[in-house]
Parts: sequence; C-alpha cells; structure tokens
Amino acid sequence: MPIANPSRTIVIATGNPHKIEEIGAILRDLGGIELIGLPEAARRIGVDGFPEPEEGTTSFEANATLKAKAYARATGMTCLADDSGLSVDALGGAPGVISSHYFNDGRTDGAAEGLTRAERDTLNNERLLRELGNTPPDERAARFLCIMALADPGGEADLVRGAFEGRIGTPDRVPSGDNGFGYDPLFLVAPDFERTSAELSNAEKNSMSHRAAAAIAMKRLLEQDA
Ligand code: IMP
Repeated sequence: MPIANPSRTIVIATGNPHKIEEIGAILRDLGGIELIGLPEAARRIGVDGFPEPEEGTTSFEANATLKAKAYARATGMTCLADDSGLSVDALGGAPGVISSHYFNDGRTDGAAEGLTRAERDTLNNERLLRELGNTPPDERAARFLCIMALADPGGEADLVRGAFEGRIGTPDRVPSGDNGFGYDPLFLVAPDFERTSAELSNAEKNSMSHRAAAAIAMKRLLEQDA
C-alpha cells in the first residue's frame, strides 16, 4: 500500500494479516498517510524483524500502549497497536485481558504449549459456557472491546476504543457458525441476538466490529492531527 510522497508513515504493528487488512481498509483513504506492516518497516531499516513485546494482564489500554510504544522505539516510526478481547458482564468482565488463554487462566505455558489457535479457541469457548452455566439469556450480556494506541518514538500514546455489543448464547443455540475466530461462534450480535458473529459475512463483521469502531475513532483522531 505505499503511496507517493506521503507526509506521514504509520506502521500497523501486528503480525496478524487479518487485522492489517481490517484496520487498513478503514484508514487507507486518509490522504497523505502511508500504512505499512511490521515486515515492511523491518525491510526499510534493514533488520530481520522485531522482538514481540510481552503483554501484561492489567488492561487492554496498558497492553495496546506497551505494544505501540515498544514498536515505535524499535522502528523509529509512528506505530499503531491494538489489544482486544471479550468482556462478559455476568463474569465481572472476564475473560477480558486473558481472552486468548482463558481456558488456562491466562497462562501461555503448561497446558497451552503446543496447541493451535483453533484448539485454544475451542477450550476457551468450552470454559466460557461452563462458567456461565444456566445463566438466563438476558443476563448473558457481553461485548468485544478493542483499544488502539498510536505512539511516536519516544512520545506518549493516544488511545481510542471500540465496542461490539451482544450476548453469549445458551448451549442449546451455540456454538454456531464457522466464519471468524475466537469467541465468534458463541457471540449473538445485538440488537436482535439472532445470529452469532461467526454467522456474519466478513463484510458485515468488518463493518460492525469493535476493531472497525476503534479504527474509525483512530481515523478521526488522525484527521484532527492532519
Ligand atoms: P488479540 O487482540 O488478538 O490479542 O485478541 C485476544 C483474544 O480476544 C483473541 O484470542 C480472541 O479470543 C478474542 N477476540 C478478540 N477479537 C475477537 C473477535 O473479533 N472475535 C472473536 N474473538 C475475539
């Protein structure tokens, strides 16, 4: 996606090609800004790659900030990083920052070692349904959250947030759908709760998702800065 004579280059600091595509699709039409991924940033400064910063378990905000600042320092360029996960009201906001390894209480070692992402997703989904037990449908409210951070090398990070509202289905209805990843097969999309986010088309999910909402907020921020 390089453009001629950009006034500003922003590195989308994630190794996940799905996220680069989703975030890039929203930010791409910002005039004068060139978006690149980490591999292109590495190529430009002549290194093989960048060490992946260690995420903590305090908050999405802290993780997104840490990643954006670490990659901005490493690349010498403005970097955008995100952190996301699922928050379930009846579970006090869990799984939250440990969404990707909920089945293992957030630990990436032990039982998590050697598992594929799909295997982890299945175990996470099983745990979530178990924790909710027979909680009635209208008490199963949940949202996907995405925090995006933009940081210049050596500077503070600007943060924006996006949410995608829904509820966790009951075991007679979910898991259902095979589009998407993570908790999508369990997540019934508000306001009608008729389809899970794994039953939406890519285009539908990309227009409603927490990442899309955060990317739109980031676009507004960048437009103000221009
Ligand atoms: P991360 O931002 O890639 O670290 O996402 C953390 C975890 O949150 C993922 O492993 C998923 O379990 C969950 N998650 C985040 N976004 C989504 C989504 O759009 N659908 C389903 N699960 C998600």
